Amino acid sequence: MKTTELFKKKTTLSFEVFPPKPTSDESVIYKALDGMKDLDPDFISVTYGAGGGANCGKSVQIASDIKNKYHIESVAHLPCIALSEEDALTVLESLKNVGVENVLALRGDITPEIVPNGRFKHASDLIAFIRERFDFNIIAACYPEGHSESSSLEEDLGYVRKKVDCGASQLITQLFLDNDYFLSFREKARAAGISVPIEAGIMPVTNKAQIERMVKLCGVQMPKKFLRAIERYEHSPEALRDAGIAYAVDQIVGLLSENVDGVHLYTMNNPYVARRICEAVKSLFEV
Ligand code: FAD
Repeated sequence: MKTTELFKKKTTLSFEVFPPKPTSDESVIYKALDGMKDLDPDFISVTYGAGGGANCGKSVQIASDIKNKYHIESVAHLPCIALSEEDALTVLESLKNVGVENVLALRGDITPEIVPNGRFKHASDLIAFIRERFDFNIIAACYPEGHSESSSLEEDLGYVRKKVDCGASQLITQLFLDNDYFLSFREKARAAGISVPIEAGIMPVTNKAQIERMVKLCGVQMPKKFLRAIERYEHSPEALRDAGIAYAVDQIVGLLSENVDGVHLYTMNNPYVARRICEAVKSLFEV
């Protein structure tokens, strides 16, 4: 099923997982999926390393398994910065052959390890490429606080609009810790003529290293309330985890009250955290 169809019927709750590193035990991801299956997410998306590499084949395999073995709709991420046209066609054909119907088309982060191919400079280039050749449902990323490379939110929104005009029919946001950024972004997006569903990306922050990584990579603002909780509980992993879960639940309740189209939970392959959050909010998605 094309995930865009879901929004016509309900407020969605989706999960995101990532493939294990080439050096890690492969069974980890399947244990995570086993632990999340009965939480009944509307779909599960699988990340894909922008630099290609050994675990990219696993992304396709995992997206296929989610759909064909777990019988949950799957979304395959596809960052394009390092891909040639031929590479993109190979991955897209593999996804099509295993019945995956949804692709989250991305540029990928530019890091020293990434060698840009030059064929796809922006996600919109990949979106147009897919739209011309395939029948996938195409999803794109958006940034409530603006993308870190953009000079303004308005400029960034113009490029989000371009992604929709090129063929994206659903958006998922980067994580944010202050719902006001999301609500203001949604208002501006609607005013800019972006009418596709916008799922809010929520990351339950459950350990200190994760917070530091997140701030470095995404540049998201950390509200005082959030910082105080981190300071208060940073020396107790269990208390910090519980504070992170409570914070995410509070964000989700706030978003549902504002009629969000859906919530995309960055589960970090952690079924325990996903379960605790689902137990707290699942009934709110059914009203
Ligand atoms: P783009 O839409 O290309 O935007 C990148 C920058 O270029 C922005 O500043 C934008 O304003 C600007 N821009 C866009 N179009 C144009 C244009 N035509 N001309 C000039 N400027 C333009 N990364 C991975 O490597 N693997 C993943 O699996 C992955 N999953 C993600 C899932 C979600 C939900 C999100 C939000 C991000 C994910 N990322 C992933 C990270 C993503 O690749 C980075 O945030 C990346 O820096 C930007 O990707 P994008 O698709 O938004 O790029």
